[in-house]
Amino acid sequence: MEHVDALVLGGGAAGLFCGGRIAKRGRSVLVLDHAKKPAEKIRISGGGRCNFTNLETEPKCFLSENPHFAKSALARYTPWDFCALMAEHGLTWHEKTLGQLFCDQKSGAIIDMLIQELEGSGGELRLETAIQDVDHDADGFLVQTSAGPIRASSVIVATGGLSIPKIGATGFAYDIAKQFGHEVIEPRPALVPMTFTDAYKETFSNLSGVAIPVEARAETGPSFVENMLLTHRGLSGPSVLQVSSYWHGSEALTFDLMPGQSALAWLKEAKQATPKQALSQRLAEVLPARFATYFPSEAQLDPGMKLAGLSNQQIDHLAQLLKAWRLKPAGTEGWRTAEVTAGGVATDALSSRTMESKRQPGLFFIGECVDVTGWLGGYNFQWAWASAAAAADVA
Ligand SMILES: Cc1cc2nc3c(=O)[nH]c(=O)nc-3n(C[C@H](O)[C@H](O)[C@H](O)COP(=O)(O)OP(=O)(O)OC[C@H]3O[C@@H](n4cnc5c(N)ncnc54)[C@H](O)[C@@H]3O)c2cc1C
Repeated sequence: MEHVDALVLGGGAAGLFCGGRIAKRGRSVLVLDHAKKPAEKIRISGGGRCNFTNLETEPKCFLSENPHFAKSALARYTPWDFCALMAEHGLTWHEKTLGQLFCDQKSGAIIDMLIQELEGSGGELRLETAIQDVDHDADGFLVQTSAGPIRASSVIVATGGLSIPKIGATGFAYDIAKQFGHEVIEPRPALVPMTFTDAYKETFSNLSGVAIPVEARAETGPSFVENMLLTHRGLSGPSVLQVSSYWHGSEALTFDLMPGQSALAWLKEAKQATPKQALSQRLAEVLPARFATYFPSEAQLDPGMKLAGLSNQQIDHLAQLLKAWRLKPAGTEGWRTAEVTAGGVATDALSSRTMESKRQPGLFFIGECVDVTGWLGGYNFQWAWASAAAAADVA
């Protein structure tokens, strides 16, 4: 029967990278994937240029039931370590915004690099192989696959989360985790557009495509100053994707439409300076014009009314709405479009140094299947690299 030192299940970002690093230690490694092509999420990421890391990576940029869990791995494998690997392979990058690094070459170049790292050190990638069963006995792991059984001393589960089933996402990691006695934190779509109720859809039907710079927040979690986008189905844009990860299914989201400014002082000043100006015209100085025409109706005001006609009470109310506009989404677009999966294999029974199971020695969980979820902006790939590196040192 075939025997390898380390068998990596899943040839995505974490699995390929982990396999390459294990192979470099001189161990025999086989990476299995059921898909026709490896690492499809790298290929489609960042608009084809893969936002492969973020220079501002810090533990606070990750969601987990245990916010301390990711610290050790992230500290030991940093964004600069991955940049150094890219440079060794002649790849270059640029910073777009907020520390987000994108590849100058196409995303496929990163996949090629990871495969070269694996195969150049004697590791093997085997595609279109279904994994049927994972067992452990006195001789180590016995994994049944569509290409026959394989024995392994270590098994590294890197099959990712549930987002985008169309390109091969499965809940396989959660099934294996449960089989070996691990708890799984209920997976939920994250970094995902939100949908409107029908009533909202009608109200906003003319505003589809409007992007508004906002500070967005869910009831829990940090706020994000970035654009929100009104779509024909609901809300999207970076700020909305960010807060979607903190949304738990019923609460309203809050948007500050004048981040960093006092709406009250601005409105009072406007009334005094240009009393004859129409309200919507003045609002268009801080909001997109189409939205500025709509927004007064949120405060039951006529967009064409003159600023002079605003009472103090109306100014207070409008200012409050501008600083904390609340919208209750109907739901999310779900797994079909979610960029990542929040929740996953609970961290309490994993070693934060090595990602090894405390229930079953030799079994590791890395990447997105673990209950560690990054913000938008390269953090999820950084977690894939860092957790893979942590496991590869010992697997
Ligand atoms: C559209 C999109 C864009 C993204 N853009 C970015 C970005 O720019 N920056 C960023 O940081 N993150 C981005 N992400 C998130 C990022 O892609 C993931 O967090 C990352 O790929 C997770 O790596 P992973 O190896 O854990 O899982 P994956 O990369 O999903 O790899 C899992 C692998 O396991 C295989 N697999 C699954 N189930 C089985 C099974 N039962 N048997 C065998 N094989 C199986 C899959 O085929 C896949 O190859 C994006 C995600 C999406 C969907």
